[in-house]
Amino acid sequence: MKINEHLKKIQTYKPGKPIAELKRELKLEEIVKLASNENPLGPSPLAMQAMRDAIPTLNRYPEGDCPLLKQALAAKLEVGENQLIIGNGSNEILIFLAQACLGHGDEAVMAVPGFPVYKIATQMMAAVPVEVPLKNGVHDLEAMGCRITDKTRLLFLCNPNNPTGTSISDDALRGLLATARDKNVLVVIDEAYYEYVCDKAYPDSLALLKTNENLVVTRSFSKIYGLAGLRVGYAIGPPSIVEALEKVRQPFNVNSLAQCAALAALTDDEHLEKSIQLNREGIEYLAAELIALGYQPLPSQANFIYFPLNAAQAFCRDLLSQGLILRPIGDTAARITIGLPEENERLVKTLKTKKERG
Ligand SMILES: *Cc1c(COP(=O)(O)O)cnc(C)c1O
Repeated sequence: MKINEHLKKIQTYKPGKPIAELKRELKLEEIVKLASNENPLGPSPLAMQAMRDAIPTLNRYPEGDCPLLKQALAAKLEVGENQLIIGNGSNEILIFLAQACLGHGDEAVMAVPGFPVYKIATQMMAAVPVEVPLKNGVHDLEAMGCRITDKTRLLFLCNPNNPTGTSISDDALRGLLATARDKNVLVVIDEAYYEYVCDKAYPDSLALLKTNENLVVTRSFSKIYGLAGLRVGYAIGPPSIVEALEKVRQPFNVNSLAQCAALAALTDDEHLEKSIQLNREGIEYLAAELIALGYQPLPSQANFIYFPLNAAQAFCRDLLSQGLILRPIGDTAARITIGLPEENERLVKTLKTKKERG
């Protein structure tokens, strides 16, 4: 068998350990998963009801281009329906972007540490990831702009950034957008955590879309909307780019339950507000406790906290054996998703005991 040579470079994505798997391994009942930035409140009740109602028609194919969801998003975001594409998670849209824009030897610029999918999608197309280190935990936009060459086609930004939770400001972004435009580079801003952001300096990317033909913004129903298991995300961009992305989309990429659940979740302001509130309180609590324990968490605009940590792999393995799933970032940091208050408290208690033991 001959497999495409360039695929050998790809490091397969490692998801956070599923709760069910750890339960089987440890024979523990009480597992706390704070590893994958999921909403601890669960899906919106409206989304759950919409899915129950849709079950009897599951013998039918879904509507391929998600007309109702597109209509609702277009109205909510005040964009044209021809500026929207819906994906099987925003992850799928990141792959569409790579398929539409990258070929053998082309380059895509991205930050490191960052969301691994940008690199995987780039390498999938036999293109070259150009990784630019963060500066003090934040995207180094100046350095990223300097790494644009004649071969660069895409530049990925994650705002707020996963895994650090830090965000870039409107001022800083505008400069990079201009540089990218001069060099015909498409800038992708991944806003998977958009709804959690409080920072006043956070860019209004939809306003920037009005004046930048080289910008695409991706968002997700997996995070604040609590629908990670269904796989729905979307992108907003210029109609010409959306049209190109539609060419690589399989006919029924978003299933019927996902479509109706996302549509219902969009109307559930109560669930959204509760999720924002719970997250803010959780961040404040965990950040204060981590600082009291001697750690230095970065300020987070998302639903997780990142802090530098020596021997992070061994640290997280030890917590895993106690039923707590965190995410090590390499061997030098950890990321904690904000959980329910009792989950956050259990984590803090475990960290305190661990520290006392040395
Ligand atoms: C979680 C996450 C996503 C969301 O992916 P989906 O495919 O929509 O579930 C996208 N980008 C980043 C940076 C994320 O952390």
